[in-house]
Amino acid sequence: MNNHEESLNYRIKKNDLLLKGVGASPGIIIGKAFMFYDDAMSMSVVSLATEAEINEEINRFKQALIKSKQQLLKLKRKLEHMKHKEAYYIIDAQILILEDRLLIENIITTIKEKKIDAASAVKDTTRGLSKIFNDLGDAYLKERKTDIDYIGERIVANILGRKHQDLSTIKEKSIIVAHNLSPADTANLDVGVVMGFVTNVGGNTSHTAIMARALEIPSVVGLKKVTQEVNSGDTIIVDGTMGVVIIRPTAENLEEYSEKKQKYEQLGKELFKYKNLPAETPDGFHVKLLANIELIEELSSVLEYGAEGIGLYRTEFIYLNRKELPTEEEHFKIYKKVIKKISPYPVTIRTIDLGGDKFLSHIDLAEEINPVLGLRAIRFCLKEVNIFKTQLRAILRASAFGELKILFPMISGMQEILQIKALLEEAKDELTKENLSFNPDIKIGIMIEIPSAATIADMLAKEVDFFSIGTNDLIQYTLAIDRVNEHVSYLYNPLHPAIIRLLKTIVEAAHSNGIEVAICGEMAGEPLYLPLLLGLGINQLSMNPQCILKIKKIVRSITRSESHGIVKALDQFKTDVEMENFMKQEMKKRFPEEFISIN
Ligand code: PEP
Ligand code: MG
Repeated sequence: MNNHEESLNYRIKKNDLLLKGVGASPGIIIGKAFMFYDDAMSMSVVSLATEAEINEEINRFKQALIKSKQQLLKLKRKLEHMKHKEAYYIIDAQILILEDRLLIENIITTIKEKKIDAASAVKDTTRGLSKIFNDLGDAYLKERKTDIDYIGERIVANILGRKHQDLSTIKEKSIIVAHNLSPADTANLDVGVVMGFVTNVGGNTSHTAIMARALEIPSVVGLKKVTQEVNSGDTIIVDGTMGVVIIRPTAENLEEYSEKKQKYEQLGKELFKYKNLPAETPDGFHVKLLANIELIEELSSVLEYGAEGIGLYRTEFIYLNRKELPTEEEHFKIYKKVIKKISPYPVTIRTIDLGGDKFLSHIDLAEEINPVLGLRAIRFCLKEVNIFKTQLRAILRASAFGELKILFPMISGMQEILQIKALLEEAKDELTKENLSFNPDIKIGIMIEIPSAATIADMLAKEVDFFSIGTNDLIQYTLAIDRVNEHVSYLYNPLHPAIIRLLKTIVEAAHSNGIEVAICGEMAGEPLYLPLLLGLGINQLSMNPQCILKIKKIVRSITRSESHGIVKALDQFKTDVEMENFMKQEMKKRFPEEFISIN
């Protein structure tokens, strides 16, 4: 155990105020906690003893029904004049469900027979009904399932007098404390008031962590029990760099962390001298450093941190927090805005990667037991061809305004590439017939993030213009470690010999077929892995814009031949722990300032 950990453990024992989790987004903040309860349906069942209690609960339920209907009618009036009528009809359908006699009777019977409180009876009945609709397997009926869930949540919230918490309505500067935050919740945050967040669950490559980095707010995830320890309004310190949260700090803690915060911010400022310098090793190897973005609000950061373009635009965030699917025109406007702002640098747009831990709020995907292995990303697109074509047409149209490339996620084999290419040709033909301009030679690439694709990378390289390695998923699928599960995050190691071997295979396949290879997983922005990636000959690293300057500083101080030496030296080790220790020691020797806190 190193000194730092020892002192942490001592303090945990002493006053139980310090929790250690996974540092998801760097930086230090000190502020007031805001408790976020994300699930209106999570409450305990209350048993009823007397007839009077049962009648009272039935009454509460009826009142909540009336209130829910009033709310929906109000919402409907608001939507009446909108051009697109979909949302209006959805509300109509929900009112019909709310008035359904059978549903009402079922809930009342449940209260009477099971002798349970109204909220639990609503939960019970609507969940049962929603499961029946889901199991019918019909796409139309599955949508009704979403409506039933939504109605159930609304009635329960009204029974309990709870408002659905919407993070965008927080007015005072605060730090969010939650069991979990979905990417949709985080996409809604106002960084003017939300200083950062901490959660019980999650790992470093979960999309919630990725969003925290995108929003440039410090965050610690995987704290296991932070919601039990904190009360709303408590002062907390969040050290996103070290993955530490201190609850109700002492004056001594506050002084120590105010100093650390200052130092950290000073170091950050000093990095800006690298902004306009090339990302080149002292012996002349240039590695392109690009940015990953999730929201168009991040475009200014891309330029501010001196990125050479956007290497990964995760477009699925366009689909979150909305009721209808985005139209081709909406997609087009967004992509045009992005490319016009970033041009003459290139922009790589990744087609939607929904599923896994990124799900739609209302246009629900089918419930799956293993969503990460399910109908997600390109599989979803090749099934819902119209949704896919809408996006392809929009990207093609925006390609008339600058160097746009298309990247396809979650490719598992050749068949998918052939299908994609045929659809892309169809979209091009349509646009030509409609006299709409686009770049006919637009470059297409695939994410290598499934082990099957890595294994046959030599075959796939002949079909596309570039590879982008998604190490977040590649590691998850190769090592069988759920990237959002804090209990196994200790096993999630990019320096596992199997991962290094796969990376070598992919780079060799790409280069011997004359195409470039990028990394766009979180590994690309982590200084510890840089010598390995340089040594392997990766052409491009795409990362959170905030990481670019630090990575550039290190690129400029380590030669390619030193990196080769490090890659070669790794061959002597057999375990990921040995490899990691070796890398840490090497980096600490060369860059004591950057790696000071590493054991
Ligand atoms: C990856 O898997 O490494 C990646 C970049 O994609 P995402 O994190 O969006 O799954
Ligand atoms: Mg991925």
